[in-house]
This record gives sequence, C-alpha cells and structure tokens, in this order.
Amino acid sequence: MNEMFLLKLGEIVLKGGNRFQFENRLKTNVARRMRPFGDFRVSIVQSTAYVEPENADCDLDGAWEACHAIFGVVSLCRCRPCAKDLDAIFDTAMAYLGEDLSMAKSFKVESRRSDKRFPLTSIGLSQEIGGRLAEAFPDVTVDVHHPDYTVYVEVRDRAAYVHGPAEPGAGGLPTGVGGRAMLLLSGGIDSPVAGYMIAKRGVELECVHFFSYPYTSELAKDKVLELAHLMTRYCGRMTVNIVGFTEIQEAIRDNCPEEFFTLVMRRFMMKIAERIARDHGCGCLVTGENLGQVASQTMEAMAVTGACVDLPIFQPLIGMDKEEIVTRARQIGTMETSILPYEDCCTVFTPRHPKTKPTLAQVDAACAPLDLEGLIARALENTELVKVRWHG
Ligand code: ATP
Ligand code: MG
Repeated sequence: MNEMFLLKLGEIVLKGGNRFQFENRLKTNVARRMRPFGDFRVSIVQSTAYVEPENADCDLDGAWEACHAIFGVVSLCRCRPCAKDLDAIFDTAMAYLGEDLSMAKSFKVESRRSDKRFPLTSIGLSQEIGGRLAEAFPDVTVDVHHPDYTVYVEVRDRAAYVHGPAEPGAGGLPTGVGGRAMLLLSGGIDSPVAGYMIAKRGVELECVHFFSYPYTSELAKDKVLELAHLMTRYCGRMTVNIVGFTEIQEAIRDNCPEEFFTLVMRRFMMKIAERIARDHGCGCLVTGENLGQVASQTMEAMAVTGACVDLPIFQPLIGMDKEEIVTRARQIGTMETSILPYEDCCTVFTPRHPKTKPTLAQVDAACAPLDLEGLIARALENTELVKVRWHG
C-alpha cells in the first residue's frame, strides 16, 4: 500500500457537540490545501485525518510540507499502511523504516491498538515486532527508556499503520471555525505575527493597509502584499484592502497640533478599518500593538485609539517582549520581509514629541478642525482590493 499521512487533531477533540463541525471544517481545509499537489483522499476517523494520495502523480513532498501549516493539526506523520497481521506489520517496518533503523544506536517499538479485535495487546504487539526487528538488526540495541529511534505501529479500523517519529503541526483550531477578523497590516514586524496568532485560533483573516503614496513608495505596498502572501501559507487566502491615506495624513499635518498627529491618524485607521470590517462580515479588528513599545502604545493612547470604534480590538502581542515577537516572525517566515527598509505611513509625519498620556477630550479637540466623514468617505472610495493566496 502507498505511503500516506496521518494528521492528529488537537483541541478539536475537546469540543463536545461541535466536534463534527470542527472536523468537517478541518477536512475541507486539508482537501483544499492538498489540491495543488494532486488527487488526495481526505477522511477523518478517531481524531485523525487520513490523507491518501489517489495515484502516483501526487507530489507527496509538497503536500507533506503544506500539511505543516494547517491549523487544527497538533502532530503529523508520514506512514505506510498494511494489513492488520504481524507478518505484514513486520515486513512493512523493514521495508519502510529499515534504513532509519539501521543507522540508529538503539530503538523501541511503540504500539497503539484502537481496533480492540486485534488479538495482541499494544504491549504484546510492541514486544513481538520489537523482537523480530532486534533479530534483523543485531547491531541496534533495544532501549525502551531512551531510544535513539522509535518505530510506531498503530492498529486502527481500516488498517495497521507503521511510521517513525511524528513532527509537530501548526496547532490551533481549523481556519474558519472562529469567524472572520480584519487585520490592520502594516509593513512592520508586529502586525503579521498578530494576524498569525488570531488566525491560529480558527479565525479567517482579511487585511487593511493604509497607503500614503507618494510619501510611501510602491515598494512599500509590494512589501505589505508579500507579507500577506507569506501569511496565506497558514491563514488561507485573504483579501487585502489598500486604502489611500494621503489626503487624511496631509489634512492632519495641516490642521492638527503636532503632538497629536499619530493619535489622530490611528483613530482614522480604526474607523476606516471598522467600516470595511462590517461591510465584509468581520467581527473584530486585530492590531500588532504592544504595551509600551512606542508613544502610541501606552495604556492612555490605546484607550483613546480604541474609543472611536465599537468592534472589539484584539491585540495578541500586547504582553509579549520584542524578542518573543521576533522569534515568532522568524518561525512563520515573515521576518525577512518585515525588515526590508521601506517606510510605513506611520513614519511619514512623526511628531517630535508625541503625546503619551492623552485624554479623549484632547484628541477630540485635535480632530475638531477635520471633516472626518468626508475624509473617511473619500478614503473608502479610494480603496483597492487585492486577493492573495499561497498557490497561484
Ligand atoms: P508593526 O510592526 O505591525 O508596524 P509597530 O510596532 O510599528 O507595528 P505602529 O506603527 O504604532 O506599531 O502600529 C501599530 C499597529 O497599527 C500595527 O501593528 C498595525 O496593526 C497598525 N498599523 C500601523 N500602520 C499601519 C498601516 N500603514 N496600515 C495598516 N495598519 C497599520
Ligand atoms: Mg509600524
């Protein structure tokens, strides 16, 4: 029988009555992620997704790599199925894992038997297969406590499955079970990580980016689209709303007290993001804010920024250290793009002495000279929609 993958489901199993809904969503997500790699059959039984190539044209390595980025999967292994009898299991272990085993110093066999009709217990099965493998590889010692290599045998409903050590999956919950969110995506390090963390909890993302051409260049826009593209490896396809922000920034520069530039600008971002979010069925806003990182990220500044919208604002990085955020950015593959040197609109008209402890009344007064509704309406009209996906 052909090599295939077993994906072990994570927290889904805890979800009681919703479990089938979660499993169905995961099954759909896995099937969609496998499509670029050929015809795969995907089924879910006993908290495990079975991913089987239907023919020899499938790109197994590409599919395997893609499986590591599917939320809802805690661990995964490539395996070979075989008949549920000792000879077949032993022959399969020899053929499939023999090379790995021959290079190990020590090994053990670990078995699981969810088909209770199988005549041996898990321990009995491990002993039997372990004994035969020890005979076949006399130079590799058996060590049940700290083995160099572990052969796994799973006797399940349809077949027995033989594999080596599993690899960690992306974790989290299947994309789509937790609704939709609008991510404010800048070109920095933080917002892609913030989006990843919310997406990991089963949430579909859409992005909004504020773009101040010609103060920020086309390259800055391309960088943001590339960040969105890198995120789709995990989050699935996304739409990026690129909002023309130049008129608003110039209006702020010309009409507001300098120390409030950033705060007024951030309030515009929130209001516009909220409008687009509501139009597109998103139930919250997501930002990469991080307590104390910059002047606009004090408690007081964030209170003022958040006060102008009704949707909840999720800030998953709020309590993290920069070091932890950078580690995560490297892990998800966005870091290198984030540190490309193009300006973000936040840095265009930066006040020399930004207000760090503003009150709502002060910021309302700072906004007073502006035609808020007119500026917002024109920015919304001046919005470009770009669809991004991992393949194609
Ligand atoms: P980042 O690294 O994500 O840019 P930051 O630490 O530079 O964050 P700010 O520039 O103050 O912080 O921005 C805070 C958050 O506001 C960002 O994480 C992002 O969610 C949002 N934001 C900032 N600039 C933009 C932009 N041009 N378009 C969309 N969202 C933005
Ligand atoms: Mg920034």
